[in-house]
Amino acid sequence: MLADKVKELELENNTLKAQVEELQEICGSRGNLPKNCEYCQNFIQHYVKCGSVYAPTYDGHCVAGNRMKKSKAGDTCKSFVPKTYGKNCI
Ligand code: SF4
Repeated sequence: MLADKVKELELENNTLKAQVEELQEICGSRGNLPKNCEYCQNFIQHYVKCGSVYAPTYDGHCVAGNRMKKSKAGDTCKSFVPKTYGKNCI
């Protein structure tokens, strides 16, 4: 009786572990990132050319048409779309 219950709990535990791993794979390590412009797909980063290298500035623009000039670093908006990254990107 008790052994059957233990086996049942172990099976349930393994199923839950597999579900957690699957969810972590879906969300990735970026699941907790803030929903601000920096992590939004609508944000286009601006760059400045320094010699032969392009360096990102602290500026950009929004292709969803939202004004960003007075927004604060942690602000988000209704048009926020999480940025997607390729498998080889960090
Ligand atoms: S859609 Fe909103 S969060 Fe995204 S870049 Fe534009 S202003 Fe920022």
